[in-house]
Amino acid sequence: MSYIERYENKITTIDYFAVDFDEKNIILNNEKLPLGYISNCIANLPKEFATNLLIHSGKINRHWQELKLNGYSRKLFMDIFADINKMIDYMQSLEPFKYFDIEKSRTTVSKLFGKDALDDYEYLLKHLKINYGRTERNEIARLEEIENKSKTAENVLRAYSYIGVDTANFGTMIINYVENFIKEDSRQKDNIAKFTCEFFENEEVQMNLAASNPAAMIRDGFNLKPIQSAVPTIKIENGKYKIIRRMYFSRMMDFFVTEFFEALSQGHYIWKCGVCNKYFLMTTAHKQLYCSTVNKEYGVPCFYVAKHPEITKRKMKKQKKSDSPYYVLWNRRYSSIRQNKSLGKYSKAVSSKAKKIIDMKFERAQFDFDYAENNYEDEMNLEKIYEEAMKE
Ligand SMILES: [Zn+2]
Repeated sequence: MSYIERYENKITTIDYFAVDFDEKNIILNNEKLPLGYISNCIANLPKEFATNLLIHSGKINRHWQELKLNGYSRKLFMDIFADINKMIDYMQSLEPFKYFDIEKSRTTVSKLFGKDALDDYEYLLKHLKINYGRTERNEIARLEEIENKSKTAENVLRAYSYIGVDTANFGTMIINYVENFIKEDSRQKDNIAKFTCEFFENEEVQMNLAASNPAAMIRDGFNLKPIQSAVPTIKIENGKYKIIRRMYFSRMMDFFVTEFFEALSQGHYIWKCGVCNKYFLMTTAHKQLYCSTVNKEYGVPCFYVAKHPEITKRKMKKQKKSDSPYYVLWNRRYSSIRQNKSLGKYSKAVSSKAKKIIDMKFERAQFDFDYAENNYEDEMNLEKIYEEAMKE
């Protein structure tokens, strides 16, 4: 009997892992990251790293193909053991792979490809033909256990051999997607959805994605049908029970695609910084043009660089208030307030308070999607604003 999974009991090895999803974040191996963070990491992965990963992963794939062709050999499994460990060495400091349980990943590999495991597999090969009538029950159990272990070993081999191509293929897709998306005027949820639909339905895009797969003959690349298993999970916090949304993945591409679409559905998207050209994750529709990470060249965040043209000695495009989709309504209310003031309908004090109120609501609509969609228009009702402004 397997019981309902508990929050703290999860596997997060590179080859097989649980990710918990909530409205705005994922939790991967106890690290809380905003939805879209993983996709953004892949978009920013330097080409050199992606290539190295492809090389590491390619080696594992060749071992896997050899296993399928020629079957088990001690030499082959020793090579696999060494090469997967080298790959983990490479991945352990790399975003976003460093968030996985690296130590546990190594333990798994060692259990499946270490010396003891090889002795087991050889024992199994010698006793492949079990004479059920004569074999002891304990012996049968042992042989079955080894057989399961060898199946797991093959799954692990498959997982590592896919990581390189999956990262490269997803990287191509995400960069292609973002480079096109930044030409859009609106960053609202509905426009993100519309753009996404048109992007993936575009035949040219589909052909490019298919052609970009570096291993197209052997393995499928980017696809829109990610496989995951949703496992019922309970979290107990301060004595209270809560049901968690947990998904397990056994292939990196499935995780990348799932995370990307969960992010888009929340209105999270990736934009390109106009100063450093790196991609950055946005969780609001606010039209931010520059990222807030410290620019190595200038020692200050890019958005600061953009505000101070003397730093770059070139003029940067300014953030405009009128870029916002909520500007039209704000501007209408602002003119009414000004007009009423000059007509003497409301005092100077009330008018200035009313202006402050609409500014606050406008600001909030920039970053709070739910507020913008459900309450903004309602709350910008002029009568209500004056009511609020006259309250003491
Ligand atoms: Zn930047």
